[in-house]
Amino acid sequence: MVKTLERQEAATDGAPRLTKLSPLAASLKLKLDEDQLTNCMRCGFCLPACPTFRETGVEAESPRGRIALMKAAAEGLLAPDAAFEQQMYHCLGCRACEPACPADVKYGQLIEQAREAIEEHTTSRRWWVKAVRTAVFKGLFPKQNRMRMLGGALRLYQRSGLARLARGAGVLKLLPKHLAEMEAIMPEASGRGVVERIGERHAAKGERIATVGLFRGCIMDMLFTDTNVKTVELLTEAGFDVVIPPSQNCCGALHAHSGEVEDAKALARRNIEAFRAAGVDYIVSNAGGCGAILSEYDHLLHHDESWKEGGAWFAKRVIDISDLLVRYGRMPSLAHAASAGAAPEGGPSSAGSRPVRITYQDSCHLRNVMRAGDSPRRLMRSIAGVEFVEMPEADRCCGSAGIYNLTQPEMAGQILEKKMACVGTTGADVVLTSNPGCLLQMKLGEARHGAGREVLHIVDFVHGCMRADGAKARE
Ligand code: SF4
Ligand code: SF4
Repeated sequence: MVKTLERQEAATDGAPRLTKLSPLAASLKLKLDEDQLTNCMRCGFCLPACPTFRETGVEAESPRGRIALMKAAAEGLLAPDAAFEQQMYHCLGCRACEPACPADVKYGQLIEQAREAIEEHTTSRRWWVKAVRTAVFKGLFPKQNRMRMLGGALRLYQRSGLARLARGAGVLKLLPKHLAEMEAIMPEASGRGVVERIGERHAAKGERIATVGLFRGCIMDMLFTDTNVKTVELLTEAGFDVVIPPSQNCCGALHAHSGEVEDAKALARRNIEAFRAAGVDYIVSNAGGCGAILSEYDHLLHHDESWKEGGAWFAKRVIDISDLLVRYGRMPSLAHAASAGAAPEGGPSSAGSRPVRITYQDSCHLRNVMRAGDSPRRLMRSIAGVEFVEMPEADRCCGSAGIYNLTQPEMAGQILEKKMACVGTTGADVVLTSNPGCLLQMKLGEARHGAGREVLHIVDFVHGCMRADGAKARE
């Protein structure tokens, strides 16, 4: 909890204020958007939507509470201390509070501004945390060649028997429990991304509808390369020429959400250059977390005179794969092959004689920021031989939230437990989602609960149904 702090001076409105702002408070005053802070009318409509408030019942763990803390710190009503910093990082950044807000408060922008100020002035970070942050945010994610090398090293670890050896020798027990669990559910990594696997350009099948640029992502391209390849195949099948600009890089979401906003801006500029040069009509993402920040490059660069037009050009072209397919694509009819007794390649196994029952966990950023939560559902409902069951609270965060499940494992674990109880009520054979972080988190939930459900990216499932349909058509 953030403590009430000593107040030393009464201002004209009667509220006592600190005589001198700390460097962090001064930075908050400078960075926080005052209009957004004052737009909050403290109605509390956002509270039931907030996972951390629902878990704790504590006002400071709610969007309204966090906004009040930011405002008080910026106005000198409290001195932001380590507890304030922790509270800002307890927020999942899921942005479920935004669609719930009648005043349209841009909470996501406020929390990023608060974290940016914290990162510039914090004194509470240990030296090794700073070192890890620098290595990850500056040395790894912005460098695609290093991401490939990491993918190759991980693959070697997984395939050479080293992973089995490490598990057998109990080495992984030295790690915190949640990291050891993550290691166990990690899919096979790859040092060769989608461009290295299939090349940069792919022609539409039949008449071309538009040219799309695929945003390949960092984690998607390293841990889910097959899904990226299938994304390209779905797009060409649906009538799109596909370009994958090789000079694109990380979207900057992890940076922006962790207060490294200048790094996020630098990454955004490079992506704008890469996709502009490719001359695309749409920029397609298959990861809700990446898609959301890509769709906000206009806001990210709005203070930068030289780049704000480029940011707007980019942001208006960004679209999620499901949204593009259902709104503009020319998809073949989709059918699941389980009823014919054979599972489609890359798809789920047979559920016997009844239709395969699927459910869906929303990607928070796809739903709350890109506002495209309906399209995956339309896509799933269009598949023959499949029963789509809506999961209770599918719109609630699963606890993944970028790297939240690594940095805040306790709260992430609590949220995941509730999520798995909701999954259990659906009787689903397969859980689908649209974001690599959610996919890993749901796999972790399945590993903990052992109910035998498959967890797949929606692209993998739909691609499997398309292949099955194609096979039927050829018979
Ligand atoms: S719903 Fe919006 S206006 Fe109401 S308390 Fe929450 S953030 Fe403030
Ligand atoms: S972003 Fe999510 S966790 Fe953070 S305040 Fe909003 S609803 Fe709560």
